[in-house]
Amino acid sequence: MEQLTILGSTGSIGVSTLDVVARHPQRYRVFALTAHSQWERLLEQCRRFRPTVAVMVDAGAAAQLRGALADEGLAIEVLQGDAALEEVAAHGEVSVVMAAIVGAAGLKSALAAALAGKRLLLANKEALVISGALLLDAVRRSGATLLPIDSEHNAIFQSLPWQRQGCGALQPEAQGVRKILLTASGGPFREFSAEALAKVTPEEAVAHPNWSMGRKISVDSASMMNKGLEVIEACWLFNLSPDQIEVVVHPQSIIHSLVEYVDGSVLSQMGNPDMRTPIAHALAWPERIASGVPSLDLFAVARLDFEPADEIRFPALALSFAAMRAGGTAPALLNAANEVAVEQFLLGAIPFTTIPKVIAAVLDTVPAVAVESLEQLLEVDGEARRQAERWLQR
Ligand code: NAD
Ligand code: MG
Repeated sequence: MEQLTILGSTGSIGVSTLDVVARHPQRYRVFALTAHSQWERLLEQCRRFRPTVAVMVDAGAAAQLRGALADEGLAIEVLQGDAALEEVAAHGEVSVVMAAIVGAAGLKSALAAALAGKRLLLANKEALVISGALLLDAVRRSGATLLPIDSEHNAIFQSLPWQRQGCGALQPEAQGVRKILLTASGGPFREFSAEALAKVTPEEAVAHPNWSMGRKISVDSASMMNKGLEVIEACWLFNLSPDQIEVVVHPQSIIHSLVEYVDGSVLSQMGNPDMRTPIAHALAWPERIASGVPSLDLFAVARLDFEPADEIRFPALALSFAAMRAGGTAPALLNAANEVAVEQFLLGAIPFTTIPKVIAAVLDTVPAVAVESLEQLLEVDGEARRQAERWLQR
């Protein structure tokens, strides 16, 4: 029986993870569930999954949850605050940690799971973008197993030579890998003109054609920043340089990415666009378990299209490649500026097309330096946020 901590259990990935876990009660037990402030959703999940611990980051929400659980006679310990996230990620009774908090807020708990040698199922791509070097180093030193949940990276992992310890040990050249073809749906605005992009609303941006996801990643998908973050994520997970990654727009989202080998073979993983497939894959790897995802109906799909990404209408992609090439703290700057810009866009405070402008401005203002420590990266993250806000108020 594997004991599981799900960080961000009330989110889109968290809910899909619980859906898979519920199909295998003999195999998985939920040790801890965590959420930011949606205590009613967490209460619902506590009733159903009976974890040992529930964590609410928000103090008021923690008090509400504690009261409600006591009223129902459920003996579940409620912890509050950021530090509790790290505690349940590193807890001795836990073997598997799903890191599904959105944004930089998930960094410390993902790192705590890596340092504690857990099987780390990483959905929180921002953690790798900010601190890929530290996270991979922690995985290697502790003997943790790092498995990607992001559908593209999970597909790449499935198409690469067998890596016994999960991600982090690939030697691309030695193992005959020539390049990675990272697929992108193109998002809801794939065919929009630059003028039309300037007028899109948050509601239009979060309505993704193929995937149902949280609001932040949906906006990232619409701006292609999600693909930019994923390029950086792939570099860290698979030990690649940005030059070995090519982005391919594939609007049907059936092929989830491809690996090209030196002999000309191209391997890929396909399936319906449903996150329960990569989640089930990583939960059970190297075994296979049912995920609840229906069979792929190729006759209904009928055709698969491919086109290059448009870096003029979607500048976030080129900014991401440039940040990874610059190295050091540049990807952390890129991520922080994007988080500020997306939040402002979702609040209706800035146009969609201002998002990449904020990122470019922060990358121009704050010099990138070599990565030294987590504390330094958190400082860099804070500085980038201040500069992004200052630029927006100028
Ligand atoms: P979401 O917004 O639906 O859920 C986010 C979760 O994080 C919630 O449980 C929320 O309570 C928690 N959270 C938010 N802010 C927090 C904070 N400050 N401290 C602690 N917890 C906090 O997001 P999502 O779509 O499930 O995405 C989660 C992560 O997975 C993101 O990094 C995203 O890029 C990645 N991802 C998501 C998908 C998808 O299909 N949704 C696919 C690939 C990767
Ligand atoms: Mg993805």
